[in-house]
Amino acid sequence: MLYGALEAGGTKMVVAVINEKGEVLERASFPTEEPEKTMPVLIDWFKERKPDALGIGTFGPADLDETSPTYGYITSTPKLAWRNYNILGAFKEALNVPIGFDTDVNAAALGEASFGCMRGISDGIYITIGTGVGVGVLTNGKLLHGMLHPEAGHILLSLDPKDRFEGNCPYHKTCFEGLAAGPAIEKRYGKKAAELKDLPQVWELEAGYIAKALVNYIMILSPKKIVLGGGVMHQEQLFPLIREKTVSLLNGYINTKEIKNIEDYIVPASLNDDQGILGCAKLAELAM
Ligand code: ADP
Ligand code: ZN
Repeated sequence: MLYGALEAGGTKMVVAVINEKGEVLERASFPTEEPEKTMPVLIDWFKERKPDALGIGTFGPADLDETSPTYGYITSTPKLAWRNYNILGAFKEALNVPIGFDTDVNAAALGEASFGCMRGISDGIYITIGTGVGVGVLTNGKLLHGMLHPEAGHILLSLDPKDRFEGNCPYHKTCFEGLAAGPAIEKRYGKKAAELKDLPQVWELEAGYIAKALVNYIMILSPKKIVLGGGVMHQEQLFPLIREKTVSLLNGYINTKEIKNIEDYIVPASLNDDQGILGCAKLAELAM
């Protein structure tokens, strides 16, 4: 079997063909321009490689409800050219193979659950902190959709008393994404996040917001593992800070073996940033 994988992002489209063992046989990346320009390039790439099925993990919001007339559409994205675009339909028409469709972060959660550090775990979450913040949720072995799909990057957090930043989310200002995604860090300090590496106060504040969000996810979703990926999480010094602050905020209220073993509970993504495309390959397999 050959699985096609498409990680559809707001800046770039990553495509790959992957075998059953989860080995990436070939990959490429194309900039995300308007659909009229980008889609033919992606379709040709897959046509040449003839996958048996395709899996798409997309930026969103997207319609994942198979009974909806707009199933497979990217819906209210701020990327205007892609708003209300039937991305699934375009691939279905062109490729004529089974296609799995989910959000980029749900795909990444599935990638970690199938090939990475969440193998054998029925309930876990994958969080990306990059240009935006997104959360993929695996619950009872399935990806959570609900009414739409979780948009847990936009949960509202209390402001740190030392933080004077107005927030960066166009919808909610100081939601988690508005306070802690890469662009929020850059706006708050006027410098690229990666260039702030040696300023401990930057990562103290960042870890504080991440820990608050994790406490909310722990209380609501009761995950057995929390995986953190995305560009900002390349700052590895965040991990011990996040673990310590999460335990401190939980304040002894939750006493599971997972929380007692916090180093193994809050962990970095384990698949070298391939968790997304590997999850897309799994979506392709599941679609067959
Ligand atoms: P995307 O979210 O667009 O898929 P990334 O996950 O790479 O892409 O996230 C990009 C964001 O992460 C940018 O805001 C960038 O400043 C930030 N970022 C990328 N690399 C690092 C790094 N090493 N340290 C801190 N922030 C980083
Ligand atoms: Zn928001």
